[in-house]
Amino acid sequence: MRLLLLLDFDGPLNPHRAVGVPPGYERHEIVEGARTWRVLLNPLHGVELNALADSFELVWASSWEHGANRLLGPLLGLPELPTILWPDRTPVRRGSWKSPYVADWVGDRPFAWVDDEVGETERTRFPGAHQLIHPADARVGLTAADFGTLRAWASGKSFAHKAFPGDS
Ligand SMILES: [Mg+2]
Repeated sequence: MRLLLLLDFDGPLNPHRAVGVPPGYERHEIVEGARTWRVLLNPLHGVELNALADSFELVWASSWEHGANRLLGPLLGLPELPTILWPDRTPVRRGSWKSPYVADWVGDRPFAWVDDEVGETERTRFPGAHQLIHPADARVGLTAADFGTLRAWASGKSFAHKAFPGDS
């Protein structure tokens, strides 16, 4: 079964908590109708993600839902991707409100989930060797080390689980 790579956008690909514009990133203004969003994008992320598509089926797991394909993916050179939808985004007491939808969507397929709002709750909920919960730092976005971890996990090589922000 092909591995799934569930991709959050804000945080991993748009480091919205960065101070200024981090190296490698460019500011983009996205306009649709009367709405404008400002995001930071790193063109290398598109290159890395397209390379990962050899090992993974890429999936948007972003609150942008279909907007990720319409507005964001093309800016990174990504093809149209399957998209997880979130009928209810009410905050939950512990962990990510995305979790039940992720669980439904992936079924028994192996997956890596990259998101800046995953933590121990998700790692406990998805503890299998075929389930990788990988936190991103919304101040820096995905780094070469993050892509290295995803490649190592996909190829069955040893890797260290990334600590969650705030862990010492
Ligand atoms: Mg996020």
